[in-house]
Amino acid sequence: MPWQTISKQIEAATGEPFKVVSTHPLSGGDINTAFLLKGDRKSYFIKLNKAELSLMFEAELAGLQELAKTQTIRVPMPITCGQASEQAYLVLEYIFFGSKNKTSERLLGQQLALMHRQQQPYFGWHRQNTIGSTLQSNIKSDEWLTFWREQRLTFQLQLLAKKGYTGKLQLDGERLCSELPLLFTQYQPQASLLHGDLWAGNAAVDQQGRPIIFDPACYYGDREADLAMTELFGGFSQDFYAAYQNVWPLEAGYAVRKTFYNLYHILNHLNLFGGGYLRQAESMMSLILSEIH
Ligand code: ADP
Repeated sequence: MPWQTISKQIEAATGEPFKVVSTHPLSGGDINTAFLLKGDRKSYFIKLNKAELSLMFEAELAGLQELAKTQTIRVPMPITCGQASEQAYLVLEYIFFGSKNKTSERLLGQQLALMHRQQQPYFGWHRQNTIGSTLQSNIKSDEWLTFWREQRLTFQLQLLAKKGYTGKLQLDGERLCSELPLLFTQYQPQASLLHGDLWAGNAAVDQQGRPIIFDPACYYGDREADLAMTELFGGFSQDFYAAYQNVWPLEAGYAVRKTFYNLYHILNHLNLFGGGYLRQAESMMSLILSEIH
């Protein structure tokens, strides 16, 4: 394990001496192996993966920096990333978790709405990142629908075509791409800073009861995409949604666009995990197309 190099890099990044006291493998990650690196003064959260995935860690570090700058929701402070012993590594502040409660859920809702208030005059981001382990393109665009059509739906559909998912999925996908302006006749999305992969596994609470988010796939886009994802796999309470709406209410038509936005994640899951996600993607497409007409 590349602990020696990582320790040196921690010292370089923080400007403080760091000595490893112990290392502990952690469970829970989908994609990487994770460790608690205990030092004499501070502890760090380390993710390791194959060296060729170091761009993924660079993007995660940049995403955490972008979220941290907003001073809205707590994120693990990103320390450094790089390659050592043929592995890519990412070093973050280690946060000891506490338990969610009504107050922390409310705070998360309020703080997410404030985070979404951080906006740009363009959709996208200054760099690509990953969603799961799939590349996520974020080329800046003035046009949200073009951005979503090309860099989200078509991108995933093309990956799927290469994997042999042709036929109905592709035909419905093309139809959806050409008809998607019909979902946006009364609604003009703004370019908010998004977490981008906001499912319950990427949110927690620290020991002081403050909400934390991590493992982002940031870009500037319609805030509804973040909200939609919180509903895709569940785990966020009514307190969370009520608090969000209190700060910045959602607009009419969200319920339909929610399925549209979540389709992206289901297409990505189909790309990553295959199987049952095909039926889910097809039925989501049918639902959205039926809502349009
Ligand atoms: P992966 O990219 O492999 O999915 P995550 O970033 O989701 O990994 O982290 C895996 C798990 O490690 C999380 O579910 C969480 O429980 C824990 N975790 C993540 N970041 C930290 C951190 N900075 N400090 C302590 N625990 C963390």
